[in-house]
Amino acid sequence: TEELLRKTEKLNVAGQLAAGIAHEIRNPLTALKGFAKLMCTANEENKQRYYHIMQEEFNRIELILGELLILAKPQVVDYRPHDPLAILDEVIQLLSTEAILNNVIIELKAITELPYVNCERNQLKQVFVNVIKNAIEAMPKGGGITIHVQKQGNSVVMDFIDQGQGIAEDRLPRIGEPFYTTKEKGTGLGLMVSFAIIEEHHGHISYQSKVGVGTTVHIKLPAVLP
Ligand code: ADP
Ligand code: MG
Repeated sequence: TEELLRKTEKLNVAGQLAAGIAHEIRNPLTALKGFAKLMCTANEENKQRYYHIMQEEFNRIELILGELLILAKPQVVDYRPHDPLAILDEVIQLLSTEAILNNVIIELKAITELPYVNCERNQLKQVFVNVIKNAIEAMPKGGGITIHVQKQGNSVVMDFIDQGQGIAEDRLPRIGEPFYTTKEKGTGLGLMVSFAIIEEHHGHISYQSKVGVGTTVHIKLPAVLP
């Protein structure tokens, strides 16, 4: 019965996700259909306008599908020991322009001789990108992000601490729920994907937050023992 229960649970999650995807893609599609029809009879000036709106809607669909595709396993699942600091450095580099443009300073603080973690490199990179991007987006007036990396027992633990707007206590349970977003242009898929990846890595991710003070994202991953 346990196996059956698990399968039913999986079906439910799949069903919820399918409903969400259908809904999120139908909206831009409906808009696209309408504007395509208008295009047929529009004058040159309006055509330009409609074209730009359609472009936005296409981008929206592309963004949603792009995030969902990360969930699909990579062709070759290649778990290998990697230095978590090297991955973090790469991600910080990747987001440095965005950070500078938003007056955000990212600081990485780690112990020496940190153990490696067994991971699918690109997937873990994706998690760090999602978490740090959210931290940047939570600080529209700028601020700091501190990333602490340590060893704790047989695990590598990372804390991503921001000085952003924070998350109200009653909203914390919704974090990681598919399509839960408070942003005008958000998809609400980044953390669902990240939670799934961390789980797949036998790790743990949790959120701690205080409105007006900031948010701490805690990620724990099994260390590769020497
Ligand atoms: P998106 O970024 O597209 O909204 P996510 O899944 O990445 O989707 O995040 C879901 C929601 O969680 C965000 O819309 C935001 O409300 C909240 N959130 C996530 N990280 C933070 C953070 N560091 N500070 C404040 N709110 C956050
Ligand atoms: Mg996000």
